[in-house]
Amino acid sequence: MELTKEMVAAYEAVIGLEVHVQLATASKIFCGCSTRFGDPPNSNVCPVCLGLPGSLPVLNRRAVELAVRAALALNCLVNPASRFARKNYFYPDLPKGYQISQFDQPLSERGWLEVETNGARKRIGITRLHLEEDAGKSLHEGFPDSDAKTYLDFNRCGVPLVEIVSEPDLRSPAEAYAYLTALKQVLDYIEVSDCDMEKGSLRCDANVSMRRKGEAKFGVKAEVKNLNSFRYLARALEYEIERQVGVLEEGGRIEQETRLWNLAAGRTEPMRSKEYAHDYRYFPEPDLLPLAVDAKWLEQIRAAMPELPAAKRARFVRDYGLTDYDADVLTATRALADYFEEVVREAPDAKTAANWIQSELLGALKEAGKEIADSPVTPAALVELLRLMADGTLSGKMAKTVFGKMFTTGRPAREIIAAEKMEQITDTGEIEKLCREVLAVNPGQVEAYKKGKEALFGFFVGQVMKATRGQANPALVNDTLKRLLG
Ligand SMILES: [Zn+2]
Repeated sequence: MELTKEMVAAYEAVIGLEVHVQLATASKIFCGCSTRFGDPPNSNVCPVCLGLPGSLPVLNRRAVELAVRAALALNCLVNPASRFARKNYFYPDLPKGYQISQFDQPLSERGWLEVETNGARKRIGITRLHLEEDAGKSLHEGFPDSDAKTYLDFNRCGVPLVEIVSEPDLRSPAEAYAYLTALKQVLDYIEVSDCDMEKGSLRCDANVSMRRKGEAKFGVKAEVKNLNSFRYLARALEYEIERQVGVLEEGGRIEQETRLWNLAAGRTEPMRSKEYAHDYRYFPEPDLLPLAVDAKWLEQIRAAMPELPAAKRARFVRDYGLTDYDADVLTATRALADYFEEVVREAPDAKTAANWIQSELLGALKEAGKEIADSPVTPAALVELLRLMADGTLSGKMAKTVFGKMFTTGRPAREIIAAEKMEQITDTGEIEKLCREVLAVNPGQVEAYKKGKEALFGFFVGQVMKATRGQANPALVNDTLKRLLG
C-alpha cells in the first residue's frame, strides 16, 4: 500500500529518549583503572572490572558528584538514599554476567528540560537519571580472522555512565532532535561529559509509538537502538514513524520489540523481541552499601555548579545588550560563550564584538572545519583588531582583509598592517593632495560635474580609493572632494 501524507498526518508520534552519557572521571566507577579512550585493547583492566572471583567494587565519589550535578541541572529531585542493583544478562562483552546499575531506587527522578522548536518553548519531563557502569566492546572487524572471530576489548568495562530517561513527551523527530541538542548543551556546560558521540560518550535510544490524533491512549512502542549521531536520530525516527503508520494502516499490529537503526540501509530492522524488567532478574547489589547523598553534600555540589545555558543567555541579553538571537548563537557551546566573554571584556563595543564573532570568526571556522577551541585568532588578537577599527586605523573593509590574514597565518593584526602597509589614511593634508591629483587628471569629468552631472561624484571618490588601494578614510575623502568641487 502506498502511504500518503494524509495517512501519516492522521497519526501522532509519541517518543521518549533514553540517553547514556559517559561521565568525565579519570578512573572507572568501581575500580582505579583509567577511563582513557583509545588505549590498546585490554590495557586498562583489573580483577574488579573483569569481574574476577573475590574482587569487590568501591564506588568512585567523583562519579556520584558529576551525576548529581547533571541531576540538578536537569531539575531532578536527588534522592537522599539510592541503591545499586544487578542487571543480569549474558553477553560476551559483560564478563561479570551482570551490569551494576540502579533499578527501583535511582539516584534522581522527576526533572525536566526546556526545549525550543519553531519558536515555541516546551518542557520535556525527565523520568529518572541513574548511575551505572558501561560494558566492554565487541570488535567485529580490523583483525586478519575477523570474518570468523569476534574480539573483545574490556577497557570500557566499568566506565561510569548516567542513563537519562525522558518522559514520552516528544511528538516529532524535530522535538527529539531539539531535546537531544538541549541536553547535550547542558551537559557540556556543566562539564560532566565530553559528550563526544563519535567516541560513544553520548548514546541515544528511542521509544516510538503511534496513535491516531486525538486519542489519549498510547500505542504499542518499539525501541530503536543505535541512534549515535544527531543526523541519524531524525532520519531513523522519520523512518520508524512511517513504518509504524504503514503497519497500522494495513490493519496490522506493532510488535513490542527492539529495532536497530541500520545506517547503510537507511532503515530500522528487528533485533530482538523487547525485554521486560523481569527478564533481567534485578536484585540489590550485595557488595555495595546504599548510596547516601546528604543535604550538605548536595549543597556543596549545587554551589560548585557552573552557569547553565539559559542563565547565560539571559545574562548576555541583560549585560551586553544582545538580541535573543545573538545570545542564542553565542551560547551554543560553553567554549564559544567563554570566547565571546573574553573578547567583550576588553573590546570597545559589545555589539560589534558579537557581530564579528558571529559573521567573520564563525564563518571562517566553518569554512576551515575547525572548532572554536582551535581558532587561530585568539580573543586578545580579535580585541586588538576591533580597537584598530574603533580608533580609525582600519576601515571596516580593511579590518575584514586583515582578519582573513590573521586567520590563515595566526599573526597579530599590527604585524600584518605593518608588513602590508595597510593603515588607513586619515591625514587630511595627504587626502587633500590625493583628491587634487585625481581632479587634475580628469578635467573633462570635473567640467561635466560642475555643469550638473552630479552622479560623477562617485567616480571621483572611486578614483581616490583606487589610488590608495582602499586605504583612504572614505568619510574624509567625501568631505574633501565636496569642498574642492563646491
Ligand atoms: Zn579495573
